[in-house]
This record gives sequence, C-alpha cells and structure tokens, in this order.
Amino acid sequence: MNFDLVIAGAGPAGLSAACAAAKTGVRVAVIEKSKEIGYPIHTSGGSWIDELRKLHVPEAFMHPIREGVFISPNRKVTFKYVEPPSCILDVRGLYQYLAELASAAGAEIFVNTTVLNPVFEEDRIAGLQARRLGHTLRVQAPLVIDATGCAGMIARRLGLSKGFRRLGVGAEYDLFAPHWPEDRVAFLFGSLYAPSGYGWVFPHGHQRVRLGVGVIHPDTSEDPQMLLEKILSKADIFNGALSKVSRIEYHRGIIPSETFLQRTVSDGVMVVGDAGGLVSTLLGEGIRFAIDIGRMAGGVAAEAISRKRFDEDFLRKFERVWKKKYKQVFKAGEYINHRIARYRDEQWDHRLETLSKLPPELLPVILKGEFTRKNVMKILRANPVFLRKAALSAFKSKIKFT
Ligand SMILES: Cc1cc2nc3c(=O)[nH]c(=O)nc-3n(C[C@H](O)[C@H](O)[C@H](O)COP(=O)(O)OP(=O)(O)OC[C@H]3O[C@@H](n4cnc5c(N)ncnc54)[C@H](O)[C@@H]3O)c2cc1C
Repeated sequence: MNFDLVIAGAGPAGLSAACAAAKTGVRVAVIEKSKEIGYPIHTSGGSWIDELRKLHVPEAFMHPIREGVFISPNRKVTFKYVEPPSCILDVRGLYQYLAELASAAGAEIFVNTTVLNPVFEEDRIAGLQARRLGHTLRVQAPLVIDATGCAGMIARRLGLSKGFRRLGVGAEYDLFAPHWPEDRVAFLFGSLYAPSGYGWVFPHGHQRVRLGVGVIHPDTSEDPQMLLEKILSKADIFNGALSKVSRIEYHRGIIPSETFLQRTVSDGVMVVGDAGGLVSTLLGEGIRFAIDIGRMAGGVAAEAISRKRFDEDFLRKFERVWKKKYKQVFKAGEYINHRIARYRDEQWDHRLETLSKLPPELLPVILKGEFTRKNVMKILRANPVFLRKAALSAFKSKIKFT
C-alpha cells in the first residue's frame, strides 16, 4: 500500500483529482467508504451544459432543460429556451464514468474502505489509516487530498476546518412521474414549502423526476423531509403534472452553505470539493466546481511529486489557481444566498415580479453567479429594480466584479 498520492473520498472532486494526477504517471490510491461509486446519491444533479462541455463531460450524461418555472406564494414566472442552457445529470452514470477515467489513467480505487485518520511520521503527513472488512490498514503516501465532501474529515483533523456551521440540508424523492414535462424544471420559494431555501422538480429522463427541498440550518430548524412530504401532499400546485407519481428512491444530503476555508492547503495536504467549501452557495451547486478544482489539485499534486515538494508553500499554487477562476463566483453566491435566505413571502412575490422582466439569456448568468463587470452592466441595462439594488449593495459590500 505504497503510493505517491492518496485521496480520501471518491466523489467528483476526488475522482477528478485522481485522474489528473494518474495521467502523469503518479501512483494514486482513492479510498471510498461507500460500497459503490455514485451511490447513495446525495445531489440533485442540476448543472450548466456549456460549463460541462468545457470540462469534456459527455452529452450522454446530460438531460437537457428548456423551461424553468419559478413559483412563489402568489407569483409564477416561466423562462423558455430554444437551446437548452442547463441540464440534469445522470449523477451515478457520470460519477462511475469519472471512476473509469481515473482507473484507465492508472489510479487504484478502493471502495467499501473508510478513512479513519491521517498518519504522521516525524511530524510530516505520511498517508492515511483506513478500515476495510474489519481490518485497519495503512496507505502510505507523502501527499494526501481530502475529498470527503461536507465531512471534510482530514481538514478537520488537521485544524484547517472547524466544520461547517451553516449547512444546506436537502431531502429528495426520485419519482416516476409520467405527467411531468421532460424538459421543464421548477423551483418553489416561500415559507410554506421551503423556508430559507427552495424546493425543486428536476426531470432526468425516462419519466423520472427528482422532487426535493433544501433548507439552511441553522437559519431554520425545519426538516426538509417533512417539507418534501408537504409538497407531495399539495402536488396540485403543479396543475396535475405531479399526479400519479410513485416513489422510486429517497436521497438526503448536506452541502456547506458558508464561505470556503481560509486555507485549502497545508504541508502534504490539499482540500478539494465540498470538503473545502468550494461550492456556489447561491443555489447549492458544486459538481462542476468539484470536477474542475479536483483536476487543478491533481495537476499540482503531480508537479509536487515530480519535484518532491510537499510543503505548504509549494502546494499554495493550487489555492492560487482555483481562487483566480472561482473566488468571486463563490463570494457573490454566498452574498446573495445570505440575503435571499431571509426573504419573506411578499419579498419572494416581489422578486419574481421583477425577475419576469429579465431577458431569459441573463437568468443563467445570475444563477451561475457570474457577476463580471460586463454581466452586471447587462443586468443593469435590463433594469429590473431588485437586481440593480443587489448589484449596488454587492458593490458596497466590496465584492469585486472581475
Ligand atoms: C441535497 C443536495 C442537492 C444538490 N444539488 C446539486 C445540484 O443540483 N447541482 C450541483 O452542481 N450540486 C448540487 N449539490 C452539491 C454537490 O452534490 C456537491 O457539491 C458535490 O457532490 C461535491 O463533490 P465532492 O466530491 O466534493 O463531495 P461528495 O460528492 O460528497 O463526495 C465525497 C465522497 O467522500 C466519501 N467519504 C466521506 N467520508 C469518507 C471517509 N471517511 N472515508 C472514505 N470516503 C469518505 C463519501 O462517501 C463520498 O463518496 C447538491 C448537494 C445536496 C446536499
């Protein structure tokens, strides 16, 4: 069990890091506690087609979406697209594909194996201690990547993280829903169904939809599963589109809903994906960031190994690279999320009213959190009042628009 790099967690972040590093000839081990990659599912898989194409995600895993319906207590706004901007992912299919890519590149994946602790030798990290089939084993490596998702277990053990205190907590049914339009997503806002969060209906093909609710703890103490049952019992709000459904799977998950870690590297360690809070908290989106930032970490790991530089100074290159591309997206997402999490029902009605005046092509820009100077100008020109207010107060709060 001697490797150059050991990765804890085989989600999209860990698998992408493994593939990028293994491609260069680095000996990589990935340790995953679940029995299967991509199971149980703890994400609803909404993403953006153009961003995924840039990451070379095959179209086969994307179920295209052409219509988005936003519902508040007394308003409903619909956006339609000829070219689908977004998609719902075949999550399990994609994660297994990422595992295949990593394996083909030479990484060894160990499922049904739980990472227990980092291992130290002479005060330096020297690998991970793990448990499989009742036996404790030691996986030696001078470099470790924490990709354990929201748990961030290595980051916590090393004091890089205190654990996330503000969390998006989601519950979801994967339903057989024969009457739901296959290319329509819906979002539900307001205190009745999703206080401090939102509900969603995400179709992903074969007459299946993911119906879920996410709320933010501790902003509210509501249990998303109870809210989910409430939505199902009032499914007539969808005008029959959710009639005759049956429950096929139940999913539950948590995602950090606060800013990324101050430090995502230390001697011999890098932290990627949810473990580092490297997500957009605006809607609770993390898959594409996990893939991209995972690959960045894998690239820096390969360089570190070839130069035998495992010190924090060298690994900080990883932090510089991901911050350059995503820091502002994460900051803007967090800023907006903190504001909308406090909206009252009448504010949601009002926001949807103003949202209805937004040209459809600008909606993805906002939901992706891409508040570049150019995009902010486009939004201001479209002139919805609340967006202007949001943009101005974001300016005041010193968010930099790149
Ligand atoms: C309810 C919900 C809905 C979401 N919806 C979306 C969405 O629509 N679109 C989107 O882009 N993002 C969404 N997200 C976020 C997205 O799921 C995450 O950002 C993404 O999964 C992060 O990937 P990751 O690899 O960092 O972590 P994870 O996917 O969480 O993977 C971490 C892996 O580490 C393993 N692990 C943990 N501890 C150990 C251990 N001790 N030993 C070994 N293995 C371990 C876990 O089993 C897991 O396989 C959602 C999240 C939730 C909770």
